[in-house]
Amino acid sequence: MNTIPFENQFITLGDAFYTKTKPTPVANPTLIKFNQELAESLGLSTNNFDPNKAVAIFSGNTIPAGAEPLAMVYAGHQFSQFNPQLGDGRAILLGEIVNPDGKRFDLQLKGSGRTAYSRGGDGRSALGPVLREYLVSEAMEKLGVPSTRALAAITTGEVVHREQLLPGGIITRIATSFIRVGTFQFFAAQGKTDAVKKLADHVIERNYPQIKSQAGNTAVTYANFLQSVVDRQAALIAQWMQLGFIHGVMNTDNMSIAGETIDYGPCAFMDDYAHNKVFSAIDRNGRYAYNNQPSIGLWNLSRLAETLLPLLAQTPEAAIEIAQNILKTYINTYENNWLPGMRAKCGLSNSAQGNDDKALIEALFETMAANSADFTLTFFHLSRLNKQICERSTKHEDALRNLFNKPKQLDDWLTQWRTRLDDETQSDKQRQTHMQATNPIYIPRNHQIEAAIRAAEDHNDFTAFHDLHKVLQGPYTQQKGKDRYQLPPQAGEVIAKTFCGT
Ligand code: AMP
Ligand code: MG
Repeated sequence: MNTIPFENQFITLGDAFYTKTKPTPVANPTLIKFNQELAESLGLSTNNFDPNKAVAIFSGNTIPAGAEPLAMVYAGHQFSQFNPQLGDGRAILLGEIVNPDGKRFDLQLKGSGRTAYSRGGDGRSALGPVLREYLVSEAMEKLGVPSTRALAAITTGEVVHREQLLPGGIITRIATSFIRVGTFQFFAAQGKTDAVKKLADHVIERNYPQIKSQAGNTAVTYANFLQSVVDRQAALIAQWMQLGFIHGVMNTDNMSIAGETIDYGPCAFMDDYAHNKVFSAIDRNGRYAYNNQPSIGLWNLSRLAETLLPLLAQTPEAAIEIAQNILKTYINTYENNWLPGMRAKCGLSNSAQGNDDKALIEALFETMAANSADFTLTFFHLSRLNKQICERSTKHEDALRNLFNKPKQLDDWLTQWRTRLDDETQSDKQRQTHMQATNPIYIPRNHQIEAAIRAAEDHNDFTAFHDLHKVLQGPYTQQKGKDRYQLPPQAGEVIAKTFCGT
């Protein structure tokens, strides 16, 4: 029997927070991929869950027992413009699952039909964005970055109308919460402080239980809540930066309250390094460019702080001061995540007195930018260099130099780097092992995602999708015969622009 042990809490908040909505059935659903490992961690497999029989659930054609489907309401700043009314326009929360470790997850279908919040949209998703989200969200998990996850992907057997007709798809995804910064904004914009408080209490109970107050949450609890969200978001964005990940559409409605990467639309990992790299076709001013992500994180968190002001103190002046003091910590927390992460990438373990590691790291990025060097391959080869130039690492030294148009600039940096390594207490072997554990070999490169999507959408061929997914399961392990997944795009393969696919 395919049972899902639902245990729904969000629905108890009341109908101001959602609209009950059933998925719209589809013609001919077919399973593309089921995430067995995730299913096991959710405790589904103990119930003899059969994914092939569950296609009816993942397509929205059958509502499983215990599900109470609904679309969540939210607002959001989209490219800095406030939109007071958004919401799940093409997603439906089926319900919540508590896994065997007692951890609670939201289970959502995306692409499952119109809701009260669809506005002009069809509530559907093309297959491409489903495959992209499946590949990238699962890659993020394996790279160690907090993320929503993919439980299943299906084709609907129907077409969706975009600029052209495309096959439709639905992704079943899970999160520790699908509540967004924009969810708080929805109620705050209407002056509904009681609803903001109810939402905050719900999120604290579920996602930040360590800060809750037994005697009832107080102003101090809400300040701790804001601080905790700030901390998680700063840490998350530092991780994106360490991997060359560009989210692409960091609107406040696409920022999770639980600190997970959410809503994989026009996201991409960069190949050749540029500080201000942008992929999203609609991000004309580069608001969400690579190097803007840390400051946009703070901008979004400032919008969250505004919604919480009435809960932070009796007077607006006092509340603003509290909020500002918390927001001020963001930059430090970000730096305190960014620098150790980047030091690890460069094999710099101890903070030897007098060394300016930050300057050394920034100099590397400057050199990479000046040479359009591939982000992932630079760190890949660097992780395999010996401190003393020697025969054994010549192959990687040469390959690294080949990534730079002007290798002399790299040589100069490598000289500084090797001098800095003199201060390391770890052995050279240990350093390389640590670097290789933090610098991935495989990332979901944009042109490979695109190739997988093209084969699937144009030829109903999912081989490339499955192969790429498999490689991304082990991003830090060299896999036999998979070298091509390491390679940046050839001139004809470059995908310069990405789309939301909405
Ligand atoms: P995004 O920026 O992609 O996260 O989407 C912004 C808003 O548009 C969200 O409220 C989505 O639910 C909604 N939306 C996007 N695509 C569609 C669609 N095809 N049908 C209905 N609503 C959509
Ligand atoms: Mg969104």
